[in-house]
Amino acid sequence: MSMLSVIIPSYNEEANIERTAETIGRILSGAGIEYELLFVSDGSKDKTYELVCGLSQKDQHIKGIQFSRNFGKEATIFAGLSCAKGDCCAVIDCDLQHPPETLVEMYHLWEEGYDVIEGIKSNRGKEGIFHKMFVGIFYGIMSKLMKLDMNATSDFKLMDRRVVEVLLSLTEKNTFFRALTFWTGFKSTTVTFEVQERVAGKSKWSFRSLVKYAISNTTSFTTAPLQLVTFMGTLMIIFSAVLGIQTLVRYFMGTAVEGFTTVILLLLVIGGCIMISLGIIGHYLARIYEEVKGRPKYIIRDKTDNL
Ligand code: UDP
Ligand code: MG
Repeated sequence: MSMLSVIIPSYNEEANIERTAETIGRILSGAGIEYELLFVSDGSKDKTYELVCGLSQKDQHIKGIQFSRNFGKEATIFAGLSCAKGDCCAVIDCDLQHPPETLVEMYHLWEEGYDVIEGIKSNRGKEGIFHKMFVGIFYGIMSKLMKLDMNATSDFKLMDRRVVEVLLSLTEKNTFFRALTFWTGFKSTTVTFEVQERVAGKSKWSFRSLVKYAISNTTSFTTAPLQLVTFMGTLMIIFSAVLGIQTLVRYFMGTAVEGFTTVILLLLVIGGCIMISLGIIGHYLARIYEEVKGRPKYIIRDKTDNL
């Protein structure tokens, strides 16, 4: 009998743990699926991990990991994947915004032979206009760069063991789970789901963390911004050739203008371009530096006894 490992990233989710464990457990056992629930506490400062420990003593299906500090959702997903024993693994949010009933649907598709089953949002739930706009732009760019529609993707997905092994074999530290499953290229299909409202607790995203997330994910997945530097350089060269010829012609015709304003403007524009280019290159340099250091993605402080 095959088993489904459900990985549940949880950061300060004490208000949700018990309900989430009960709901998912009930739905999966109701559908006759063998499962384990793997709560990965991302260095929660509240009772999240203690609650998981308590539950795991009563129910062998429930397992938990506690990080030494907050490492971010990506890290919790990878920690979960590396500890999961199932023949297939699913990732689902702890706040029940991803409907657990969809897990059953995904599982059946997996049984039909699909390796990756992507959860696609049919709506985006309740989000501010600013947030929606930003997310829209980010995914617009990502979709162009990766040549696939990222707009409605989520971290809610189910993967075959083969895909999990590939993901675990990647040595990179800055991962982008959502896009990596596409990248592996295994046979995939999608399931749409409606984003539910968060049952309890608060969303952990601030606008600042979203911007950081967007930048780090774009640069961890593509080097297109570096090509942008070359592109800007080419534009500048064409521009300067035209302007250069014009200036020389005017000089020899004796109609050269008093060029102070032009010079200042040119200096400013060129200075700006150079600094932005340096910034982009510097950003990639920083990423290389981070990868080269080779620090672990996460540090596990504690695991429940059944893991
Ligand atoms: N999460 C996490 N580490 C973090 C932030 C969030 O493991 O640093 C988890 C969180 O507990 C939840 C999921 O990631 O299960 C999604 O977080 P949240 O609901 O805050 O994001 P949203 O649904 O608003 O995108
Ligand atoms: Mg949420």
